[in-house]
Amino acid sequence: MSEKILAMANPMLCAVFAVAFFVLWRRETSATWIVILAATYASRAVGFFVFHFTDNPNGVAAIVTMHVFYSVSAITIVWAICARNRQSADLKTYLLISVLGLALIVGATYGSDYNARLYAANASYGLILALGTQTAARKVEKDFLDKVILFLLAMGAFQFFVRPMLAIIVEGSMTAEQYRETPFYALMVVWLALASLLMAMALLAAALTDQMNAMREESQRDSLTGLKMRGPFEEAAIAMLSRAKEQNVQVGAIVADIDHFKQVNDIWGHQVGDNAIAAFGDLLGSTIRTTDLAGRIGGEEFCVLVWDCESDPTTGLAERIRSRFERLPIEGISGDVRLTASFGVAAWDSHEGYGKLFARADAALYAAKENGRNRVVGEGWDNPVDATVDVAEFAARQEDDQPGDRRSGVRGIATA
Ligand code: GH3
Ligand code: MG
Ligand code: MG
Repeated sequence: MSEKILAMANPMLCAVFAVAFFVLWRRETSATWIVILAATYASRAVGFFVFHFTDNPNGVAAIVTMHVFYSVSAITIVWAICARNRQSADLKTYLLISVLGLALIVGATYGSDYNARLYAANASYGLILALGTQTAARKVEKDFLDKVILFLLAMGAFQFFVRPMLAIIVEGSMTAEQYRETPFYALMVVWLALASLLMAMALLAAALTDQMNAMREESQRDSLTGLKMRGPFEEAAIAMLSRAKEQNVQVGAIVADIDHFKQVNDIWGHQVGDNAIAAFGDLLGSTIRTTDLAGRIGGEEFCVLVWDCESDPTTGLAERIRSRFERLPIEGISGDVRLTASFGVAAWDSHEGYGKLFARADAALYAAKENGRNRVVGEGWDNPVDATVDVAEFAARQEDDQPGDRRSGVRGIATA
């Protein structure tokens, strides 16, 4: 009886984790990997339950049922870990290995040697975990939890190959009933429970860390554009430059400011001004890569740090954003009118910090404003040309045009 109660510990623990992962997933349903993990632990719970409580554990029905649930558990844990790393798991191969494993296990039940079955089952789980470890190990930047999970996954694969061999070496060839009586078997049950517990804790910690990071990220985002606000942007920028230094990677900086924005507010109102800021933010977000960093650093001022990018391509990116923006219709602004923005670009010198880099890009932005707006100015740019902006007919229509100030006037508001 006490043996039965002890045996309940494994499936119960797995069931608790299945519920925990399911509840966590409900809080943030976009994190699919967490619901896949719930499936891992649910199927493992069923597998363990059948293993400990079936009347005839050596019958083909029990063996097939256990194999199906253990296989689902092995496949889904690898799938979940890869999904968290944004890697695609080779599910077809894993499924094929499970089916082959099943064929071998069923075949082996007709023989008299229990070892064959032991090898077939364990080898199929071990192979799936080993392949999964290989994929997960390709993740470029691994934090402490990534490493712990990877280590436990590798250990899981390793034990599936070594454990059955040790069992046979230690105990010699035997029947399933004899095998379950051995101290080695008891040790194995405890070891498996412990390893499974450690892995579940590491995955739970990863899920919670991911959710906390997502919440912090969300709170750092500007609600109008969805980009990072100034403070968090600067923190992330400093971190990016220190990563760039470590990895010897080039970084480009772009500072952008919408032209004549005060007048946009004056003419069409603050709400329309907000639409323009949101549209510019969307444009930035959809033009840069996921490795780049963008922030709204002021009212209608933005900064982008371009990862692994030299001066010319950074200028090219700024030019792409500039030319897209000057063609972008903004909700609430008269149909034939387009806004423009000016851009300053600087290439990071690995000896300088973020402050100096930003100051150089901002100085280039100043030059862009001085030299006619709606343009990209990079370093070494010393050949200002006249404004290429089509001076708006629209501007002429405005009676309260007050040119003079470097950041006022309506030259940047072009007609489409
Ligand atoms: P320039 O071409 O020289 O940049 O001229 P500008 O008129 O754009 O000048 P400046 O950049 O100094 O103007 C920024 C204006 O943006 C001032 C402020 O009223 C407006 N602004 C700042 N934040 C917001 C916001 O969240 N919404 C709206 N609608 N306007 C904002
Ligand atoms: Mg402006
Ligand atoms: Mg401004």
